Amino acid sequence: MTTLYQKRVREDNLRKVLRFIHRMGSTSRPAITQELHLSPATVASLVAELEECGLVQEDGLGKSRGGRKPAILRFNAEWAWVVAAKVGVTRVRVGLANLKGELKGKRVEPLASRNPKDVVCQITRMVSMLLEELPHPRILGMGVCCPGVIDRETGEVLKAVNLGWENVPLKSLLAEHSPWPVFVEDGADAGALGEKWFGSGQDVENLVYVVVGNGIGSGIILHGELYTGQQHVAGEFGHTSIDFSGPLCPCGNRGCLELYASARALVQKVEEALRQGEKTLIRNLLEEGRNLTAELVSEAAYLGDSFALQVLEETGTLLGRAIGNLVNLFDPELVVIGGGLSLAHPVFFESLATTVKAQSLLLHRRPVAVRKAFFGGDSELVGAAALTVERVFGERVPIL
Ligand SMILES: [Zn+2]
Repeated sequence: MTTLYQKRVREDNLRKVLRFIHRMGSTSRPAITQELHLSPATVASLVAELEECGLVQEDGLGKSRGGRKPAILRFNAEWAWVVAAKVGVTRVRVGLANLKGELKGKRVEPLASRNPKDVVCQITRMVSMLLEELPHPRILGMGVCCPGVIDRETGEVLKAVNLGWENVPLKSLLAEHSPWPVFVEDGADAGALGEKWFGSGQDVENLVYVVVGNGIGSGIILHGELYTGQQHVAGEFGHTSIDFSGPLCPCGNRGCLELYASARALVQKVEEALRQGEKTLIRNLLEEGRNLTAELVSEAAYLGDSFALQVLEETGTLLGRAIGNLVNLFDPELVVIGGGLSLAHPVFFESLATTVKAQSLLLHRRPVAVRKAFFGGDSELVGAAALTVERVFGERVPIL
């Protein structure tokens, strides 16, 4: 008779085997036996269980290390999918991803309202539309990321300055509408992990991810691990002050970086110049009935407008100076720039990267690399999907 204790040990081992195969992508029974210090008979029986449900599949024969060639075991990333969502200051993105965090489809809409309950309804509606387009019989969980200070355990948004949120129980609000387990993540942290696991940062151990949209945030990975600080506040880069007597920021501090170098700051700078009578193609584009956004400024820059090019360069240089401080503080191998502004005319990214490197204290030795996010505006979505898979597999084996 199987005792409760034996059952728990088996579940625990099954979880370890699944996590190992998931992490490796493909492996073999002898490799699992060796790595997890389990007996060959135990591994054979646990793998049989995972094969039976389809989570793991045999795929040809591997190299022999003496004796028979072992069967290759491959993780079946399509066995189930996860839902990911990102709440931004102006947009909501939702996506469906497989168990490797690969996006299968996504929807992007303008954020309709900042009221938390409306945001939850919008996410729920967008997810159902996406699932109607791309149905999958098995959804394991939903990961939602948003900017600000998040308590990952309770799923509460403690403070999101740009959304005007304080102590919003996002996880419980979403759980009322979601048939799946819900996890809430910090947007910049999810982006950093998405880039570290699958994107620009796969070959480095120390990475700073900076997301530049209407706000500015950062995710910091040190020695391969996310650094979140003692109360999840680490990485609130947009609210570091660059002018102690500057204008008041909604966060309560003065002269925050976000007020000078974000997409919103760039738009405000352009608005001010237009009021002063600046001659620029932006004015012509606005006369065609377009809205003044960072994308519009970038479009004018592509048309050769010298004012648009100048504003983008100034913003890139300013942000580069601030990131230079981060580089001298953490000494990472790589800085990854994500968010909407990273997709602007190249003059923005080039002036940013040049300034970061010029500020590096040991430039002549091994300069820090500065890259654009591999996933563009989707890094957070990819990270949220991957974190959801990690969390589900960490808590339970989905077949039990
Ligand atoms: Zn601030």
